[in-house]
Amino acid sequence: MELFNKGPEFSQTERLEKISQSAMEALELCASMGDYQTSVTKFKNRKDIFQRAVQGLGQMLPIAFYAFYAMDDAGFDIRLELVDDSQKTDYAGRAVDDLIDRGVVALALREKKTLTAMSPDRRYKVLIHSLATTSKTYGVFFCFLKDGPVEKAIVDKITTIIMKSTGYALENFELYQLVHQKNDELVEKNFQVSKSEALYRNTFENTGNPTIVVDIRGAIVHVNGQFAEFSGFERRDFADRRNICDFLGSGSNMDFAKILYIAEKDNQDAPTEYVFINSRNEHKIVFLKISLLGLEDQYIVSFADVTPLKEAERQLQFQAFHDPLTCLPNRVLFQDRLKQAIKKKKRYPAYNYALIFIDLDRFKSVNDTMGHNVGDELLIQVGKCIAQSVREIDTVARFGGDEFLVLLEDIQDKECCDIVARRILGQFREPLQIGDQEIIMTLSMGILISTEQDLGHTDAIRLADMSMYEAKRQGRNCMVYTHQIQNREIEQRLLLENNLQKAIQKGEFFLQYQPLMNLSSNQIYGVEALVRWRHPELGIIPPNTFIPIAEESGLIIALGQKIFEIAFADFAAWSGKFPMAKDLNLSLNLSVKQMLQNNLAADIKKMAGAAGIGLDNITLEITESLFIDDMDRALKTIHDLKDLGVSISIDDFGTGYSSLRYLNKFPIDLVKIDKILIDNITGNQTNYNIVASMLELCAKLDLKAMAEGIEDLAQLEKLQGMNCPFGQGYYFAAPQDRNVIEEMLAKICEGFNYR
Ligand code: C2E
Ligand code: CA
Ligand code: CA
Repeated sequence: MELFNKGPEFSQTERLEKISQSAMEALELCASMGDYQTSVTKFKNRKDIFQRAVQGLGQMLPIAFYAFYAMDDAGFDIRLELVDDSQKTDYAGRAVDDLIDRGVVALALREKKTLTAMSPDRRYKVLIHSLATTSKTYGVFFCFLKDGPVEKAIVDKITTIIMKSTGYALENFELYQLVHQKNDELVEKNFQVSKSEALYRNTFENTGNPTIVVDIRGAIVHVNGQFAEFSGFERRDFADRRNICDFLGSGSNMDFAKILYIAEKDNQDAPTEYVFINSRNEHKIVFLKISLLGLEDQYIVSFADVTPLKEAERQLQFQAFHDPLTCLPNRVLFQDRLKQAIKKKKRYPAYNYALIFIDLDRFKSVNDTMGHNVGDELLIQVGKCIAQSVREIDTVARFGGDEFLVLLEDIQDKECCDIVARRILGQFREPLQIGDQEIIMTLSMGILISTEQDLGHTDAIRLADMSMYEAKRQGRNCMVYTHQIQNREIEQRLLLENNLQKAIQKGEFFLQYQPLMNLSSNQIYGVEALVRWRHPELGIIPPNTFIPIAEESGLIIALGQKIFEIAFADFAAWSGKFPMAKDLNLSLNLSVKQMLQNNLAADIKKMAGAAGIGLDNITLEITESLFIDDMDRALKTIHDLKDLGVSISIDDFGTGYSSLRYLNKFPIDLVKIDKILIDNITGNQTNYNIVASMLELCAKLDLKAMAEGIEDLAQLEKLQGMNCPFGQGYYFAAPQDRNVIEEMLAKICEGFNYR
């Protein structure tokens, strides 16, 4: 241990001076140690800390180099972490191994004080000290000293202080690093949160729909700009937690739990509608889309405003069941009520109804001499007069043209009906006042009283119609009951039904074709095949007379097959003769009974194959009544047909159970807007609006649209103004025999532009 006292170059005084100077510096150093332990931010790594310690020790000791051995995590072993002079690494390793072997290192770790030893080759004195705090041992510090005088007592103390401080500095540094890392993580997390918050806010603001966030009780937590506008409130008005139910109609019994429950059960095709009432008390119809926000039991609710769509649908519904001119129920609604009455009669034989078929006498001459406006006004007034003569529960309908139908429900006997019929006739004893003109109008009536006889609604109407004709024959302005003519009519009907079967075998049916036009190019786009019956005695019978009979008797299947065969053969012949006919479209009508036959698609394929034509240019016209009974079956049939390559069009759209919903639910290609809507398009703003909104909807749904029954240029121009793409009607051509169509195609081939 006299090691430290050696120093022949120094005199005793010099030595003392040196010692006291070192001690002073060391004391200063000790004083600055507190600062050293805490100035962690200055250190980039542990080496900086050691450097600083060595700098302190170097004031008193001639340090050649140092090594630090770090304690492993388990606290069992030390491993070289760094040697400040890289050339000495191996040397230091060997020296420390020796010190370990000699037990010096273990002692230093245990005693936590400064030990000194000689390196194995005795070149260096080595100062050994553990670096530790009360809670953790970091490792062992080895200072390799050059030769020189050292005041051991002071050095020991100060080294211990410095080493302890270094231990704490390490601990602080480690903590700092940890805090720093945590802080970085926090900053990153905050950044991510604010990023996703911005994203969320942006999405929320721009959902395209009024959107809100609500809590589990429906209290509104956030609203987007669109919702504020939609609700008629300012954003700040939502600070006091309004509830979503405050806006949804049908009021008091509505709570958010119920809305959630309903939303869960809703299916996409038929979402539940709610009435949304805004601050201006405007009622809107909305669909709700509710999804979990994923935060604190909150929900995001967006509102789709379907008011315009619903309004169009409502108008369409009204239009579908009402006559646009008189606003009375139309043919469809009437038939429906009549069907109900017939069913009731079957179930309750004591129940009786009466059906009155009314036709105005000589209406045509009024129309022709006084003009359409007077004619229309007259029809409106007649409708009112008839309606005034019956009870609320009865139905008065305009059947078309100047025909009206009355259904009297639950009447006691024929006498009751007689009274009502006379009352109606009585209304017209006085002339009607139309503008400044007085017009005398009379009516002819055919009346059917319900009987035990099993009648279909078409038969019932036909019988009443026949009786009305009998009334006309008897001199007009009177009524005739069906039983007065019935036998003759029934005979005729039976005759037709009998004949129908033979007629199919004998080939008495033939087709006419009506051109379908492209309204933007004024070019022929296709033809619709329309069947006729050339009866040997009765002459040509129109389809409206025999198709219902064919349907009821099931003969429609065989008849339909004949029609397809004829049409396909004609189409094949045209395609062979005229190159342009290959692009021509052929439309065929299918009634519901035909649609529901089992092998329809396969049959059509077979027939097309036999005729040698493809099916890509074939369109099948079906009516919406197909959808009423069995949606699933209808959908399957349509898909089977579409798989053949044919197109599907909806015939007579706007007259039946018109629902916009079918249009996007079924794979439909074309919508044929019924003649009844086109008829009034030039005179009646409602009709114009309805047709316009139908056309708009079709365009939106990527459906083709065709106007039926265009009879004059004014109608055509209106339709062209509305961008109606296709049209059909007498204005272009009535249904024509096949040879006329052939001539037409020949002309087109020669460059003649059809109309
Ligand atoms: P639809 O399918 O609506 O056929 C159009 C009807 O309107 C045709 O009467 C046509 O002659 C008539 N029409 C076309 N343009 C005008 C016009 O500008 N003014 C007027 N007033 N009428 C026009 P049609 O040929 O008497 O056919 C009546 C209905 O019979 C057809 O109505 C269709 O439902 C049915 N039908 C015709 N052929 C067949 C067929 O082959 N199979 C089936 N299942 N039904 C058919
Ligand atoms: Ca048709
Ligand atoms: Ca039609």
